[in-house]
Amino acid sequence: MTATDPTSDPPDSAADVLDPLLMTVQQFDRAAEQMPELKRGLIEFFRHPKRTISVHFPVEMEDGSVETFHGYRVLHNTVKGPGKGGIRYHPEVTEHEVTALATLMTWKCSLIDVPFGGAKGGLICDVKSLGAGELRRITRRFIHELGDNIGPNTDIPAPDMYTDEQTMAWVYDTYDMQHPGRNNRPVVTGKPLDIGGSLGRNEATGVGCLFATQRLLHHGVVDGLESLDGARVAVQGFGNVGAVAARQFAAAGARIVAVSDSEGGIFRDKGLDLDAVTTFKATHGTVVGLPDTRSLTNEALLELDCDILIPAALGGQIHRVNADSIKARLIVEAANGPTTAAADDSLMQKGVVVLPDILANAGGVCVSYFEWVQNYENEQWDLEDINRKLRRKIDSAVDAVVARWNDLQAGQSSNADADQDGDAATESTLLNLRTAAMVLAVGRVADVTLERGIWP
Ligand code: NAD
Repeated sequence: MTATDPTSDPPDSAADVLDPLLMTVQQFDRAAEQMPELKRGLIEFFRHPKRTISVHFPVEMEDGSVETFHGYRVLHNTVKGPGKGGIRYHPEVTEHEVTALATLMTWKCSLIDVPFGGAKGGLICDVKSLGAGELRRITRRFIHELGDNIGPNTDIPAPDMYTDEQTMAWVYDTYDMQHPGRNNRPVVTGKPLDIGGSLGRNEATGVGCLFATQRLLHHGVVDGLESLDGARVAVQGFGNVGAVAARQFAAAGARIVAVSDSEGGIFRDKGLDLDAVTTFKATHGTVVGLPDTRSLTNEALLELDCDILIPAALGGQIHRVNADSIKARLIVEAANGPTTAAADDSLMQKGVVVLPDILANAGGVCVSYFEWVQNYENEQWDLEDINRKLRRKIDSAVDAVVARWNDLQAGQSSNADADQDGDAATESTLLNLRTAAMVLAVGRVADVTLERGIWP
């Protein structure tokens, strides 16, 4: 199998696959099973990225040596608009991971209803071992190598793991130097405010997690959890998304009992003082060691006795081995791809509800879209406006997913009634919120593809 050909040997849809691309193939296959109207030609088309770019480039390091870096930009689908997706800097970036994340972006943009397709970038590097000058040169050279494969109307980057608004400022500046004399601000989102960033963008993914959770609870689909008031919450990953989500959930009445970062986690049964956690992390580089807290591993954090678990770090964290030990009633997937297909099945059998990534963390791309619109209008919207528009988008996406979930379940029960052999019992384990969200998202992209017609 080549890196970009996940269909040559697709995994069994219930296997415990940790490869991120094969995980997205499994999720897609589960949705496609519920969509008899989806033609084989479209299934093939959606399984593959439209374009994959792989670049190697040299950068001069602080000590005068030269190092070669390897990065990817994958454009999955542009049927509904230009590609949109973050750039991740991480030592374990692979082509499969970037392709998986680009694919998820297609479905996420469709679900949250913004006029973008899916894309993602990844660069293999360890940010923690690099100086600011090195990071700036690496970013500039990466963007230079991508050339006109990114652009305000073709493929628009944003932040992801270990990239931030400073990185996006360099992305913008590099592109602007190469394309002088025009408004280039819409080429990248997640920029600093004074060069066209949007109010609320930094917080948008975490805020979106809160809005999506509140709306889901309002639908009463999580047994024993009607509101966030007093809910015990554990957050894996105290970065941009995780730290904001923790604060937002705490402000909405929840008790944050545990948080973590790459070094490990901390626990306090009475609830963590998030100001103290933030200050401690800023001075010590990790949350571990904060006085008046108990240390725990990232693995133990996932299995804590809590109401809501928010994975907000890497993919593949909840899998067949630990899924049975998860005690949360609700998992809010702030991270992309944190749960394997096999874990999805175990969790569903245990009655644990999973708010899937393409819905839970769609707030980020939603406000990125608002930033892009503001950049074209040369406007700066109020934070209140942005959060009102964001809540409306998230609420209607959650409502649509829950409605589709109910429809699919109703269809499945009537099939089960007709099926005396009981085969439907196996199928019902696959019908979770993720599959409902995917059915909705894939269906919308399929409709637009057919409306436009296959070119030529
Ligand atoms: P970030 O770099 O700001 O933070 C990542 C956090 O994860 C850090 O606290 C880091 O210490 C922690 N971490 C790294 N390795 C870990 C490990 N092995 N165990 C536990 N924690 C670990 O990144 P971010 O922007 O907050 O992104 C986090 C997740 O959210 C990613 O999966 C990303 O794809 C997803 N996401 C981000 C955005 C966004 O707007 N930034 C939008 C949608 C989804």
